[in-house]
Amino acid sequence: MKEKKLFGTNGVRGLINDTMTVDLVLNLGKAIGTVLGPGKVVVGRDARKGGEMFSRAAISGLLSTGCSVIDIGPAPTPTLQFVVPRLDCIAGIIVTASHNPAEFNGIKAMGANGIEVSRETEREIESVLRSGSYTIADWQNIKSVTSEKTAIRQHIDGIMSHIDTESIKKRNLTVIVDSANSVGALVTPTLMRDLGCKVVSLNSQLDGSFPGRPPEPSPENVVELLRTVKSVGADIGIAHDGDADRATFVDENGRVVSGDQSLAIIAARILSRKQGSILVTPISSGKLIEDIVEKAGGKIDWTVVGSVDVSHRVGEIDADLGGEENGGVFYPPHQSVRDGSMTSALIVEIMSSENKMLSELVRELPVYHTEKQKLKIPIEKMNSLAEKLLTLTKDQERITIDGIKLIQDEGWILLRPSGTEPLYRIFAEGKTVEIAKKLSKIGTDLIERAMK
Ligand code: MG
Repeated sequence: MKEKKLFGTNGVRGLINDTMTVDLVLNLGKAIGTVLGPGKVVVGRDARKGGEMFSRAAISGLLSTGCSVIDIGPAPTPTLQFVVPRLDCIAGIIVTASHNPAEFNGIKAMGANGIEVSRETEREIESVLRSGSYTIADWQNIKSVTSEKTAIRQHIDGIMSHIDTESIKKRNLTVIVDSANSVGALVTPTLMRDLGCKVVSLNSQLDGSFPGRPPEPSPENVVELLRTVKSVGADIGIAHDGDADRATFVDENGRVVSGDQSLAIIAARILSRKQGSILVTPISSGKLIEDIVEKAGGKIDWTVVGSVDVSHRVGEIDADLGGEENGGVFYPPHQSVRDGSMTSALIVEIMSSENKMLSELVRELPVYHTEKQKLKIPIEKMNSLAEKLLTLTKDQERITIDGIKLIQDEGWILLRPSGTEPLYRIFAEGKTVEIAKKLSKIGTDLIERAMK
């Protein structure tokens, strides 16, 4: 049987002291040092339980291969990514499980440019770990660990250098920042204050038991933020995930803005700066983004689903922007990775320079409806099903880079096998709820036909 892959869509994750152990992280540190070293490696962690334990294990593993380590302590993933090239490091490791529940922790590894290592490098790291063929440094070549306290300030200054602070200062916005008791609290409240906003912090004490809310900034998890925005009379609410590479926004009426919508608001402005601008986005993004990009005179470059793939593609083709429907925005003049604090600064800048409320910016967008469904598939049928679907849809207008996206007059349907479970995901989008439901039905019918 094929061994389960260690790296998932975004790094290695598991249950603390169960599938995610000190031994595994020690070995990951050794494997990363072997593949990417020798040289300086920056290490950080979010506020999760086990963060200190795992970052010390990763550091020991790295040191054993002859790497030296700069420990920045608790910090968002994008802060670590920002300082990897600026501290002249050859790699970075962050201990985080992003938006997963509290009992999880994990590791993300970055290359010298601060971007998550490529799929190919992940496979190399995994193969070194499985074979145990680590580089072992000579005793005279064991290096040291230094700490670095300026990473967060460097990151904030980096963001501010791309933002029109004058218009924000004049606008005098009140911003509520909900950091989910994790490391977003170290960056975004200070950033917003420095940009000239009045800031109220929610869930800002670092606590790996996540007492305030679960780390995923989904609509059902940000109810307290909605209430606070309304009761304080704030202009905007910002909710981060556990490592603050994502941001979910709440308008002044206490309504959650979807990830598509916040991306569309930003994309409309960035892409219209020059003719022929390019947005990199996964195949799961919808018609809203297509409309916005077309109106701005830009083009879309489609990728498979996964932020690592978007980051790499953004760099590869020198794109003007990257974005995902879950609220991930990649702003390359700052860095080609998801950065929740940068995204927040861009939204606040747009509200200020155009003197609009967030609800107005949302109202200006075209309206689409999406339907998301899952169909369980017997595991032995997953491969043959993919082939049958390709044959069944061969005469239709379609995109096949990750699953099959069928382009229809009234919208689109995406049929995509899950990367982790034996099931197919069906996404459908149309102008009305009825059309979205109708398209979704076409999708499930197709899968049922292909199963026969
Ligand atoms: Mg995250």
